[in-house]
Amino acid sequence: VVILAIESSCDETAAAVVKNGRQILSNVISSQIELHKLYGGVVPEIASRKHIEKINQVIEEALEQAGAVLDDMDAVGVTYGPGLVGALLVGVAEAKAISYAKKLPLVGVHHIEGHISANYIEHPELEPPFLCLVVSGGHTHLVIVKEYGEFQILGRTRDDAAGEAFDKVARAIGLGYPGGPKIDKLSLEGNPYAIDFPKGKIEDAPYDFSFSGVKSAVLNHLNRCRMQGEEIVAADIAASFQRSVVEVLVEHAISAAKDYHMDKLAIAGGVASNGALRRGMEKACQENGIHFYYPSPILCTDNAAMIGTAAYYEYKKGTRHGWDLNAVPNLKLGER
Ligand code: ATP
Ligand code: MG
Ligand code: FE
Repeated sequence: VVILAIESSCDETAAAVVKNGRQILSNVISSQIELHKLYGGVVPEIASRKHIEKINQVIEEALEQAGAVLDDMDAVGVTYGPGLVGALLVGVAEAKAISYAKKLPLVGVHHIEGHISANYIEHPELEPPFLCLVVSGGHTHLVIVKEYGEFQILGRTRDDAAGEAFDKVARAIGLGYPGGPKIDKLSLEGNPYAIDFPKGKIEDAPYDFSFSGVKSAVLNHLNRCRMQGEEIVAADIAASFQRSVVEVLVEHAISAAKDYHMDKLAIAGGVASNGALRRGMEKACQENGIHFYYPSPILCTDNAAMIGTAAYYEYKKGTRHGWDLNAVPNLKLGER
């Protein structure tokens, strides 16, 4: 089964050709980061317009790199939520047009199911059930992947997503957008124990997260330094903030793995490329006899290969969408 996959939920226009779920024949990503940098974050209207400009070209490239044409495809997979409505609509309209013109089955995919599925690509042995920590720009979920496309959500963030916290703190210490990778890099030069920022825990909800408190603590720290004329050591702030976030993510994931007797743990989403998170989780998993899985950085951030993988397992289960498929900006994980 060869699937053409399309992703346009945020600021990446992406297309991929995926064979039998785990074999990536092509994976083309056109990022708009340079454009949105100017504004310090993604501007929805600009994102939609750029998707329209790029999408045909990105799909053509994906087919060309795969050495294929549309007639070789068995289905079209597309992200239909969650995300920016205008951005999603571009991919959905494109997928519907191709599906209609080429009489191909249409499979709508949940963006976060895509992020989780990125783990299947480089780990042929990974199959459900396993525990997955989803840490992206808009989501922080701790979920049990019970079956392909079937999820039990154990915990989630009560406020900011992990990636969002990275981006906001990066902006506060003047690192620019997107902040995650910059904090990751700067932290290598800082002392993670320089400042004791609070940890985002919620009483009586052992698997939930909260990152707005850490973010406020960073802002308070900056204000205090400025008022008292103390030196602001950005590297120490970055490293200490990152430690606080990573420790909570690791602790919650490991305790959930133990409580639910999961011997496989995966991470997914943009923040899954974070060096400290990977090292921390690797170590904790080793100590607890848990197999640890994570995707390559290029498969952690938004891409269409992961959507093709998710679409394949949905396709195998019989998921088919009609040409009335619409973008669903707040689609819940596990909904169809
Ligand atoms: P969602 O998937 O929730 O809809 P999104 O698609 O915008 O949101 P992703 O593309 O999965 O999010 O990830 C982008 C996020 O990952 C950004 O917040 C970015 O700062 C963060 N990120 C990327 N690399 C790193 C890193 N090395 N360390 C920390 N955060 C990172
Ligand atoms: Mg993005
Ligand atoms: Fe994403």
